[in-house]
Amino acid sequence: MISLDLSGKSALVMGVANARSLGWAIAEQLLAAGARVAFSYQGERLKPELEKLTAGYPGTLLQQADATSEDDLSALFSRVKEEFGGLDAVVHAVAYAPREAMEGRFIDTTPQDWNTALSVSAYSLISVCRHAEPLLREGSSVISLTYHASQKVVPKYNVMGVAKAALEAATRYLAAEMGAAGVRVNTISAGPMRTIAARSIPGFSTMYDQAAKAAPLGRNATPREVGKLGLFLLSDLASGITGQVVYVDAGSSVMAMKLE
Ligand code: NAD
Repeated sequence: MISLDLSGKSALVMGVANARSLGWAIAEQLLAAGARVAFSYQGERLKPELEKLTAGYPGTLLQQADATSEDDLSALFSRVKEEFGGLDAVVHAVAYAPREAMEGRFIDTTPQDWNTALSVSAYSLISVCRHAEPLLREGSSVISLTYHASQKVVPKYNVMGVAKAALEAATRYLAAEMGAAGVRVNTISAGPMRTIAARSIPGFSTMYDQAAKAAPLGRNATPREVGKLGLFLLSDLASGITGQVVYVDAGSSVMAMKLE
Protein backbone atom coordinates (compact mmCIF):
# COMPACT_ATOMS: atom_id res chain seq x y z
CA MET A 1 0.00 0.00 0.00
CA ILE A 2 1.29 3.48 -0.86
CA SER A 3 1.32 5.74 2.17
CA LEU A 4 1.95 9.42 2.74
CA ASP A 5 2.66 9.08 6.43
CA LEU A 6 5.25 11.72 7.36
CA SER A 7 5.21 11.07 11.09
CA GLY A 8 8.74 11.29 12.45
CA LYS A 9 9.70 13.71 9.63
CA SER A 10 10.63 17.36 10.17
CA ALA A 11 9.95 20.28 7.87
CA LEU A 12 10.71 24.00 7.72
CA VAL A 13 8.19 26.28 5.99
CA MET A 14 9.33 29.85 5.23
CA GLY A 15 6.89 32.57 4.15
CA VAL A 16 3.51 32.06 5.80
CA ALA A 17 1.78 35.43 6.35
CA ASN A 18 -1.79 34.21 6.84
CA ALA A 19 -4.23 31.38 6.06
CA ARG A 20 -4.27 32.34 2.36
CA SER A 21 -0.49 31.98 1.96
CA LEU A 22 0.63 29.19 -0.37
CA GLY A 23 3.21 28.27 2.28
CA TRP A 24 0.32 27.58 4.66
CA ALA A 25 -1.50 25.47 2.03
CA ILE A 26 1.60 23.25 1.86
CA ALA A 27 2.13 23.30 5.65
CA GLU A 28 -1.46 22.13 6.23
CA GLN A 29 -0.80 19.06 4.09
CA LEU A 30 2.51 18.36 5.87
CA LEU A 31 0.85 18.67 9.28
CA ALA A 32 -2.06 16.46 8.18
CA ALA A 33 0.47 13.82 7.06
CA GLY A 34 2.00 13.88 10.55
CA ALA A 35 5.18 15.92 9.98
CA ARG A 36 6.56 18.22 12.65
CA VAL A 37 6.84 21.71 11.16
CA ALA A 38 8.93 24.78 11.96
CA PHE A 39 7.83 28.13 10.54
CA SER A 40 9.93 31.22 9.86
CA TYR A 41 8.28 34.58 9.31
CA GLN A 42 9.49 38.06 8.40
CA GLY A 43 8.97 40.53 11.24
CA GLU A 44 7.40 40.05 14.68
CA ARG A 45 4.08 41.55 13.50
CA LEU A 46 3.36 38.23 11.71
CA LYS A 47 3.88 36.10 14.83
CA PRO A 48 0.34 36.35 16.31
CA GLU A 49 -1.18 35.13 13.02
CA LEU A 50 1.19 32.15 12.95
CA GLU A 51 0.48 31.39 16.61
CA LYS A 52 -3.22 31.31 15.74
CA LEU A 53 -2.74 29.07 12.69
CA THR A 54 -0.51 26.57 14.49
CA ALA A 55 -2.36 26.52 17.83
CA GLY A 56 -3.72 23.00 17.23
CA TYR A 57 -0.33 21.52 16.39
CA PRO A 58 1.91 20.89 19.40
CA GLY A 59 5.61 20.68 18.63
CA THR A 60 5.65 23.42 16.00
CA LEU A 61 8.45 25.95 16.20
CA LEU A 62 8.13 29.62 15.24
CA GLN A 63 11.10 31.84 14.51
CA GLN A 64 11.51 35.28 12.97
CA ALA A 65 13.88 35.30 9.99
CA ASP A 66 14.36 37.74 7.16
CA ALA A 67 15.38 35.52 4.25
CA THR A 68 17.96 38.11 3.13
CA SER A 69 19.75 38.20 6.50
CA GLU A 70 22.64 35.76 6.94
CA ASP A 71 22.44 36.33 10.71
CA ASP A 72 18.71 35.52 10.82
CA LEU A 73 19.25 32.39 8.71
CA SER A 74 22.13 31.23 10.92
CA ALA A 75 19.97 31.69 14.04
CA LEU A 76 16.98 29.96 12.39
CA PHE A 77 18.90 26.89 11.28
CA SER A 78 20.77 26.52 14.60
CA ARG A 79 17.44 26.58 16.44
CA VAL A 80 15.96 24.02 14.02
CA LYS A 81 19.06 21.84 14.54
CA GLU A 82 18.75 22.14 18.31
CA GLU A 83 15.04 21.34 18.44
CA PHE A 84 14.52 19.00 15.44
CA GLY A 85 17.99 17.47 15.03
CA GLY A 86 17.70 17.54 11.23
CA LEU A 87 15.31 18.25 8.35
CA ASP A 88 13.48 16.18 5.74
CA ALA A 89 11.72 19.04 3.94
CA VAL A 90 12.17 22.76 3.30
CA VAL A 91 9.50 25.00 1.75
CA HIS A 92 10.66 28.39 0.39
CA ALA A 93 7.50 30.46 -0.14
CA VAL A 94 9.13 33.89 -0.04
CA ALA A 95 9.02 36.64 -2.66
CA TYR A 96 8.94 40.42 -2.81
CA ALA A 97 9.35 43.24 -5.32
CA PRO A 98 8.68 46.92 -4.61
CA ARG A 99 5.25 47.89 -5.92
CA GLU A 100 6.70 50.74 -8.05
CA ALA A 101 8.73 48.16 -9.99
CA MET A 102 5.49 46.48 -11.06
CA GLU A 103 3.51 49.63 -11.80
CA GLY A 104 5.78 51.19 -14.37
CA ARG A 105 7.55 49.98 -17.53
CA PHE A 106 10.02 47.09 -17.21
CA ILE A 107 12.66 49.20 -18.98
CA ASP A 108 12.55 51.66 -16.08
CA THR A 109 13.45 49.04 -13.42
CA THR A 110 15.99 50.65 -11.07
CA PRO A 111 19.13 48.82 -9.94
CA GLN A 112 17.79 49.02 -6.36
CA ASP A 113 14.45 47.41 -7.26
CA TRP A 114 16.25 44.76 -9.36
CA ASN A 115 18.55 43.93 -6.43
CA THR A 116 15.68 43.78 -3.93
CA ALA A 117 13.46 41.57 -6.09
CA LEU A 118 16.25 39.20 -7.12
CA SER A 119 17.74 39.06 -3.64
CA VAL A 120 14.50 38.33 -1.74
CA SER A 121 12.84 36.16 -4.38
CA ALA A 122 15.72 34.19 -5.93
CA TYR A 123 19.06 34.51 -4.11
CA SER A 124 17.39 33.62 -0.80
CA LEU A 125 16.71 30.10 -2.11
CA ILE A 126 20.47 29.62 -2.54
CA SER A 127 21.33 30.92 0.93
CA VAL A 128 18.52 28.87 2.49
CA CYS A 129 19.88 25.72 0.81
CA ARG A 130 23.42 26.54 1.98
CA HIS A 131 22.26 26.96 5.59
CA ALA A 132 19.97 23.91 5.39
CA GLU A 133 22.52 21.57 3.77
CA PRO A 134 24.16 20.29 6.99
CA LEU A 135 20.70 19.48 8.44
CA LEU A 136 19.18 17.81 5.39
CA ARG A 137 18.87 14.05 5.72
CA GLU A 138 19.32 11.64 2.82
CA GLY A 139 16.04 11.54 0.85
CA SER A 140 15.05 15.07 1.86
CA SER A 141 13.48 17.58 -0.47
CA VAL A 142 13.44 21.35 -0.97
CA ILE A 143 10.66 23.17 -2.84
CA SER A 144 9.98 26.79 -3.77
CA LEU A 145 7.20 28.59 -5.61
CA THR A 146 7.45 30.18 -9.02
CA TYR A 147 5.14 31.59 -11.69
CA HIS A 148 4.91 31.22 -15.50
CA ALA A 149 5.88 34.92 -15.98
CA SER A 150 9.43 33.51 -15.85
CA GLN A 151 8.86 31.98 -19.30
CA LYS A 152 6.34 34.29 -21.00
CA VAL A 153 5.66 37.98 -20.64
CA VAL A 154 2.89 38.75 -18.18
CA PRO A 155 2.20 42.51 -18.29
CA LYS A 156 3.22 44.31 -15.07
CA TYR A 157 4.94 41.28 -13.58
CA ASN A 158 8.16 42.99 -14.78
CA VAL A 159 11.23 42.38 -12.60
CA MET A 160 9.42 39.63 -10.68
CA GLY A 161 9.30 37.64 -13.96
CA VAL A 162 13.11 37.89 -14.13
CA ALA A 163 13.39 36.93 -10.44
CA LYS A 164 11.27 33.82 -11.08
CA ALA A 165 13.45 32.91 -14.10
CA ALA A 166 16.49 33.16 -11.79
CA LEU A 167 14.73 31.05 -9.15
CA GLU A 168 13.98 28.33 -11.71
CA ALA A 169 17.58 28.30 -13.00
CA ALA A 170 18.89 28.26 -9.41
CA THR A 171 16.65 25.24 -8.75
CA ARG A 172 18.45 23.29 -11.49
CA TYR A 173 21.94 24.25 -10.27
CA LEU A 174 21.06 23.44 -6.64
CA ALA A 175 19.53 20.11 -7.68
CA ALA A 176 22.71 19.22 -9.58
CA GLU A 177 24.91 19.90 -6.54
CA MET A 178 22.68 18.58 -3.77
CA GLY A 179 21.68 15.36 -5.51
CA ALA A 180 24.91 13.63 -4.45
CA ALA A 181 23.71 13.80 -0.82
CA GLY A 182 20.31 12.42 -1.82
CA VAL A 183 18.62 15.83 -1.59
CA ARG A 184 16.05 16.86 -4.23
CA VAL A 185 15.26 20.47 -5.23
CA ASN A 186 12.17 21.41 -7.26
CA THR A 187 9.95 24.42 -7.78
CA ILE A 188 6.16 24.55 -8.09
CA SER A 189 4.80 26.86 -10.78
CA ALA A 190 1.41 27.89 -9.41
CA GLY A 191 -1.34 29.65 -11.34
CA PRO A 192 -2.69 32.93 -9.93
CA MET A 193 -4.05 32.68 -6.36
CA ARG A 194 -5.55 35.41 -4.17
CA THR A 195 -2.85 36.07 -1.55
CA ILE A 196 -1.25 39.18 -0.02
CA ALA A 197 1.69 38.98 -2.45
CA ALA A 198 -0.73 38.80 -5.39
CA ARG A 199 -2.44 41.99 -4.23
CA SER A 200 0.69 44.00 -5.02
CA ILE A 201 0.55 42.98 -8.69
CA PRO A 202 -1.29 45.69 -10.66
CA GLY A 203 -4.27 44.22 -12.59
CA PHE A 204 -4.13 40.93 -10.67
CA SER A 205 -7.93 40.45 -10.77
CA THR A 206 -7.96 40.62 -14.58
CA MET A 207 -5.02 38.20 -14.72
CA TYR A 208 -6.87 35.86 -12.35
CA ASP A 209 -10.08 35.91 -14.44
CA GLN A 210 -8.26 35.50 -17.77
CA ALA A 211 -6.19 32.55 -16.51
CA ALA A 212 -9.37 30.78 -15.42
CA LYS A 213 -11.01 31.36 -18.82
CA ALA A 214 -7.93 30.16 -20.73
CA ALA A 215 -7.34 27.06 -18.60
CA PRO A 216 -8.29 23.65 -20.03
CA LEU A 217 -10.02 22.94 -16.71
CA GLY A 218 -12.03 26.17 -17.08
CA ARG A 219 -10.99 27.47 -13.66
CA ASN A 220 -7.93 28.40 -11.67
CA ALA A 221 -5.99 25.90 -9.61
CA THR A 222 -6.54 26.25 -5.85
CA PRO A 223 -4.15 26.72 -2.93
CA ARG A 224 -5.20 23.26 -1.73
CA GLU A 225 -4.00 21.83 -5.05
CA VAL A 226 -0.66 23.63 -4.54
CA GLY A 227 -0.55 22.07 -1.07
CA LYS A 228 -1.16 18.57 -2.44
CA LEU A 229 1.56 18.97 -5.09
CA GLY A 230 3.88 20.27 -2.37
CA LEU A 231 3.19 17.22 -0.22
CA PHE A 232 3.85 14.93 -3.19
CA LEU A 233 7.17 16.61 -4.07
CA LEU A 234 8.28 16.56 -0.43
CA SER A 235 7.39 12.90 -0.02
CA ASP A 236 9.07 9.71 -1.12
CA LEU A 237 6.47 9.36 -3.90
CA ALA A 238 8.53 11.95 -5.83
CA SER A 239 11.88 10.26 -5.06
CA GLY A 240 12.96 10.36 -8.74
CA ILE A 241 12.06 14.01 -9.38
CA THR A 242 14.63 16.78 -9.01
CA GLY A 243 15.61 20.04 -10.71
CA GLN A 244 12.10 20.44 -12.14
CA VAL A 245 9.57 23.21 -12.53
CA VAL A 246 6.25 21.45 -11.87
CA TYR A 247 3.07 23.28 -12.87
CA VAL A 248 -0.21 23.38 -10.96
CA ASP A 249 -2.27 25.91 -12.90
CA ALA A 250 -5.32 24.00 -14.21
CA GLY A 251 -3.35 23.83 -17.48
CA SER A 252 -3.48 27.54 -18.40
CA SER A 253 0.23 27.68 -19.28
CA VAL A 254 -0.17 25.22 -22.18
CA MET A 255 -2.63 27.46 -24.03
CA ALA A 256 -1.26 29.91 -26.64
CA MET A 257 -4.76 31.36 -27.06
CA LYS A 258 -8.37 30.45 -26.62
CA LEU A 259 -11.08 31.18 -29.21
CA GLU A 260 -14.39 32.30 -27.63
P1 NAD B 1 2.10 35.66 0.71
O1 NAD B 1 2.14 37.17 0.72
O2 NAD B 1 1.10 34.99 1.54
O3 NAD B 1 3.55 35.07 1.02
C1 NAD B 1 4.74 35.74 0.68
C2 NAD B 1 5.62 35.65 1.89
O4 NAD B 1 6.94 36.15 1.63
C3 NAD B 1 5.08 36.46 3.09
O5 NAD B 1 4.92 35.61 4.20
C4 NAD B 1 6.17 37.48 3.35
O6 NAD B 1 6.30 37.82 4.72
C5 NAD B 1 7.38 36.71 2.85
N1 NAD B 1 8.55 37.56 2.63
C6 NAD B 1 8.68 38.63 1.81
N2 NAD B 1 9.91 39.14 1.94
C7 NAD B 1 10.58 38.37 2.85
C8 NAD B 1 11.88 38.38 3.39
N3 NAD B 1 12.79 39.31 3.06
N4 NAD B 1 12.21 37.43 4.31
C9 NAD B 1 11.32 36.49 4.69
N5 NAD B 1 10.06 36.42 4.21
C10 NAD B 1 9.70 37.36 3.29
O7 NAD B 1 1.89 35.32 -0.84
P2 NAD B 1 1.98 33.93 -1.64
O8 NAD B 1 1.28 34.20 -2.91
O9 NAD B 1 1.57 32.81 -0.78
O10 NAD B 1 3.54 33.83 -1.97
C11 NAD B 1 4.31 32.66 -1.70
C12 NAD B 1 5.12 32.29 -2.93
O11 NAD B 1 4.21 31.86 -3.96
C13 NAD B 1 5.92 33.43 -3.53
O12 NAD B 1 7.17 32.93 -3.99
C14 NAD B 1 5.07 33.84 -4.72
O13 NAD B 1 5.81 34.51 -5.73
C15 NAD B 1 4.62 32.47 -5.17
N6 NAD B 1 3.51 32.44 -6.13
C16 NAD B 1 2.34 33.07 -5.84
C17 NAD B 1 1.31 33.05 -6.78
C18 NAD B 1 0.03 33.77 -6.52
O14 NAD B 1 -0.71 34.04 -7.46
N7 NAD B 1 -0.28 34.11 -5.28
C19 NAD B 1 1.47 32.35 -7.99
C20 NAD B 1 2.69 31.70 -8.23
C21 NAD B 1 3.70 31.75 -7.29
